[in-house]
Amino acid sequence: MRNREIVLLEILKAVAEERQSQLRVLYLLREVECDGHYLEMGYPSLFEFATQSLGYSAGAAHRRIQSMRLLKTLPEMASKIEDGGLSLCVAAKTQSFFRSEDQKRKSEGSAKLSAQAKQEIAHSMLGASMRECEKKLAEISPASALPAEKTRELSLGKALIQFTAAQELLEKLEKLKGLLAHQNPDGSYEGLFEVLADMALKKVGSAAGPALSNNDAQVASVSTVEKSKSRSIPVEVKRRVFARDGGCCTYKDEKTGKRCGSRFALQYDHAKPFSWGGETSEANLRLRCRSHNAYTARKMGLNN
Ligand SMILES: [Zn+2]
Repeated sequence: MRNREIVLLEILKAVAEERQSQLRVLYLLREVECDGHYLEMGYPSLFEFATQSLGYSAGAAHRRIQSMRLLKTLPEMASKIEDGGLSLCVAAKTQSFFRSEDQKRKSEGSAKLSAQAKQEIAHSMLGASMRECEKKLAEISPASALPAEKTRELSLGKALIQFTAAQELLEKLEKLKGLLAHQNPDGSYEGLFEVLADMALKKVGSAAGPALSNNDAQVASVSTVEKSKSRSIPVEVKRRVFARDGGCCTYKDEKTGKRCGSRFALQYDHAKPFSWGGETSEANLRLRCRSHNAYTARKMGLNN
């Protein structure tokens, strides 16, 4: 058996190294985000890159990404993460609070939290436990300190979905429970969302497919010979492109061949840009998620 003091020294050294490498991960995540490397590699978001490519759990990825964003605003907090004064949980919670509070203030038409206010709040979190952090944030702004939306995988193919609902949404859901009681007799939220999801998918699925690409201002109904010269996309063309591309983003990393495959916020993209004379035809259109549509446009020097 090794001497207790030696083991203690060794573990303290390892913990210090762990924090240093944690900080290094945050800086590298920032580089991956700023330079768009995750997009180039075929991931629609930094979160997907962190979970799928780096193997982090959803929670671990969220903590690191949010902490990285906190350091963008308050770089001086890096030394606090490194010396253990600020845990990633508390840093991430504080950053989520800043974002919610800024969004709330924007919707109210008031000024965002100042850099100094953010600095003071972050400094008041030094040495705080998660419970203390939540309590302090709730005292500053109860609405912005509410728990973030999250999804946690459970066993048996189930997931726990958590989000906070405003009173208006609760009232709508209660009303729907009553109206749809014959299809959801036990009145559960799971049952209700299943009925609603089926109804929505039937409606959206039978419509013209996903959202329009960035510069498409309206749904197309162009039926003359001019249609391939118009930016508007006829419904039938949309259906065929959607089916051909499997209803997901077609972006592929040229080096690895990894396809994005995201089904989130899909858009129709002109492979040869419309402004360069690209036609609005099945052959020239492809499905792209919003992130990859914007990424490709940036790479081509287009301003959308
Ligand atoms: Zn994509």
